[in-house]
Amino acid sequence: MTHTLTCHACGATFTASRRHALTCSNACRQRRQARRRDALIADLSAFAREAAAVKLAA
Ligand SMILES: [Zn+2]
Repeated sequence: MTHTLTCHACGATFTASRRHALTCSNACRQRRQARRRDALIADLSAFAREAAAVKLAA
């Protein structure tokens, strides 16, 4: 039994035997993880900027 899914990294349609597969290939899986890490770092630096701004205002 295969499922037609959309890759979360490149947007391609692919078929997988696992219903909850997120990406079409290992390369896309790694790219998605790298992007998530970048997004997390961006979130943390935005948080640090906000914390610094709050400290300045207080
Ligand atoms: Zn893909």
